[in-house]
Parts: sequence; structure tokens; C-alpha cells
Amino acid sequence: MYGTLGTFYCLARSGDVLLERDEGVLRPAGSGDRQFAYVQAARRFPRLGYLMPVRPQSAWTCDRCGGSGAVAINRAGSSVCCPDCNTRGWTVEL
Ligand SMILES: [Zn+2]
Repeated sequence: MYGTLGTFYCLARSGDVLLERDEGVLRPAGSGDRQFAYVQAARRFPRLGYLMPVRPQSAWTCDRCGGSGAVAINRAGSSVCCPDCNTRGWTVEL
């Protein structure tokens, strides 16, 4: 469903997320990786929009990415997923 440098995210029909990292073994994703995969799936495939985490009323727009979920890394327009909000575009008090 989605791949980054060295990590591939697989979404099972059950909703479970599996990761394959450099070692080539599928493993169940932890909560942070699962949420990251859900956000990516919802943004890339409109039919999976229901996977987008619901923004709590207490959340605020991420200062680092301004709510886009991505951070520019050069003037050519390349960007990376925002690490501060896990690409959601918002953060909450922990
Ligand atoms: Zn952010």
C-alpha cells in the first residue's frame, strides 16, 4: 500500500497493518506505524478515507507542517512525512 526508504506498509483486509523492513520479514505494526499507514492509505485511496484518524477537539494544527502532514526538504518541492504529527497534520497533548 505504501513504501518509504526501507519500509513497506501492507494493509490487510482485516485492517491490520504489517510492515516489511530491510530484513524482508512481515511484522505486525505498532500503534504509531499503524496510524501512519492509515493516514497514508486515506490520503492516497479515497475509498479508504474512513481510516483517517479522527481529530480530537483538543488537537491543534502541527506547527512543523502547518497541517499538511509533509515537510519540504528542498526548493524543488520534495517533501517528507512530518515526524512531529506522524503525517496527520495535527497533534495532541500526550
Ligand atoms: Zn506535522
